[in-house]
Amino acid sequence: MLMAMNPILQDAREKRYGVAAPGVNDMQTVSAVFQAARDLRAPIILDCVEMNDIEAVADIAKFFAARYPEVPAALNLDHGRSFDVCARAIRAGFTSVMIDCSKLPFEENAQITAEVVKMAHAAGVSVEAELGRVGSAQNYAEDRTAPLTDPSEAVEFAKRTSVDCLAVAVGTAHGLYEGETPELDFDRLAELREVVPIPLVLHGGSSTGDDKLALAVKTGISKINLFSDLSSAGTNAIRSLLASGKTTALGFLPLGMVYGAGIEAYKQVVMDYIEVFGSRGVLDASKKTFIS
Ligand SMILES: [Zn+2]
Repeated sequence: MLMAMNPILQDAREKRYGVAAPGVNDMQTVSAVFQAARDLRAPIILDCVEMNDIEAVADIAKFFAARYPEVPAALNLDHGRSFDVCARAIRAGFTSVMIDCSKLPFEENAQITAEVVKMAHAAGVSVEAELGRVGSAQNYAEDRTAPLTDPSEAVEFAKRTSVDCLAVAVGTAHGLYEGETPELDFDRLAELREVVPIPLVLHGGSSTGDDKLALAVKTGISKINLFSDLSSAGTNAIRSLLASGKTTALGFLPLGMVYGAGIEAYKQVVMDYIEVFGSRGVLDASKKTFIS
């Protein structure tokens, strides 16, 4: 069942578990995510960036949502950069959009977010925004010093925009870290959970470490975006399959088999994270929430 993100995250916030939000881009990744959620009885959020064919991904998500009606799932535009692309995603059938104006000053970020919220809510679609800067893991030493989310600003932002959930900067970064895992500001996160009345989102979940992610969920994160770990698990699986020298009666490995090996590894990492975030079995525990 494809639904707005809000009820999924409200339940997560209330019961203090985290919803995995894997990055998807095609039929195989969408199918793998639905299967992982179905197998582990977990709600799920599919995150898709605008550089993909978002109209195609929306139709694919609708198809698999109909195939797995028991899975509460939201399809979210990840890092939408403008009002127009959010409108395009909503027209395509996305049930949630992220408007990311976190690079802009507070005032402009709040203003554009409020406009997107007005449009999206009229269509029954949820909105995620970002406050503070989540930088790049490859440039972590420098980006970690960028401003983390200020709790009183976050309260003001939520009030002024009526946004449904907020991505906060608490020390993670996008991509894979070289060497050390990131240093998370758990005190700040605890304060944000205390004062901000909407669910909080963590971007840059990959290679943060299971213990830190589990603690981030316990401290107040309701949605965790994942891309790099899933993608690199997939490419590594493909690399080992090719290096194994295996072949078929055709004398070569069909493309579907090669890509399938990557997707299988991608799916396994999604399942591992569902366990880490404590959302395994939530469907049975929260039946009423998702059926209404
Ligand atoms: Zn992100």
